[in-house]
Amino acid sequence: MRDDFFIYIGKNAADKLIGYCQNHDLDQLMLVADDNTYAAAGRQLSATLKAAGFDVRTSLLKGEEITATEQHFVQVLLDTGREERTFIAVGSGSITDITRFVSFHTRSNFIVFPTAASVDGYTSAGAPSVIAGFKKTVMCQSPLAVFGDTDVLSAAPQKMIASGFGDMLGKYIALADWRLGELFWHEARDEAISRRVRVAVDKCVERVSEIGQASPEGIQALMDGLIESGLCMLDANSSRPASGSEHQISHHLEMKLLWQHKPAVFHGTKVGAASVICAAYYDKLRQMSRSEAAKQLDKAQQPSREQYEREISEAYPGIEDKVLAEQESFMSLSAQGYRELKQKIVDRWDDIQEVAASVPSAQQMAGWLRQVGGETELEALGFTSGEIKEAVEYSHLLRNRFNVNKLWHLCGIEIM
Ligand SMILES: [Zn+2]
Repeated sequence: MRDDFFIYIGKNAADKLIGYCQNHDLDQLMLVADDNTYAAAGRQLSATLKAAGFDVRTSLLKGEEITATEQHFVQVLLDTGREERTFIAVGSGSITDITRFVSFHTRSNFIVFPTAASVDGYTSAGAPSVIAGFKKTVMCQSPLAVFGDTDVLSAAPQKMIASGFGDMLGKYIALADWRLGELFWHEARDEAISRRVRVAVDKCVERVSEIGQASPEGIQALMDGLIESGLCMLDANSSRPASGSEHQISHHLEMKLLWQHKPAVFHGTKVGAASVICAAYYDKLRQMSRSEAAKQLDKAQQPSREQYEREISEAYPGIEDKVLAEQESFMSLSAQGYRELKQKIVDRWDDIQEVAASVPSAQQMAGWLRQVGGETELEALGFTSGEIKEAVEYSHLLRNRFNVNKLWHLCGIEIM
């Protein structure tokens, strides 16, 4: 983690931001916002900064749905000109990513003034962007600082707050999946980071009713949790602590929407509903005895390389090569290695039970989501049962990771 990383979440964040800029001699600033976030916080922030003597310019992005695309990168570049300025992203995920991208490519720094506790990506270094029609995460830079004002964050639309909470609930799945990856696929795992993420999500759940009411205390807990999750990803140098099977289902659906030129659905909203599906997998595991698992493993046939290739070209046309590369270690697993993996699953069934016991039930997860006004089913977000089935079936192919979905698709453990 960078030493100069500064985070403040609380009341009067604008004053803290001013103090920070004064202490760091940042007097030329470039605000980036859209109409909504300018009305929610940007206008007031700009006036406050100007009154304090700062030279402030603003890039106001137009459009119904702001996404991190070339069009917006260029607009911010043009609005900034060739002056050296410190950028301030006033908005949620996409505005932060646009600012992250432009500031990095102009060798400038940026600060985030979030307007919604909707994602855990504020502190990350990567900017998920759509470039030439394809979504990819472009490695850029982390912000110098984050100043979250709990009054601003509490006034965000409840569906954005529910999205942030959904992203947090996904951590229960991500942490359990990470442990499975360590147990069965020799994936490096950090116990201290796991514990930090667990504490962060537990604290959000403790405050679920306050988050549902968008009280400043509830929103503070949610934003603290999202920030901590983001910092854990930075410290792990991987999204592994915060992203498991539920994020893979969400990524799959997100790509499909993009390819079909359909409007996006909030990241955490999809993650929350997908977490209910994955929690149900762990419910099933908890009900399964070692002997039942052994019986199923015995019947399981190792998927052939041809099967991987067929499924990947069916599900991910246009990005087959990238997805195939992710699956190489699974495709090149020897017959002997496959037998050993199945035996290890039987031998370590107690560990699997312990992992499964760490995940709240699907019913519990859905109950929490309902409390914050979130959706519990992907159907309610406009996805057809065919699209959901496809996501559930193929999304394990998107990453070189062993998780609960691999336990099913690779090893034949029936959890559907
Ligand atoms: Zn997420």
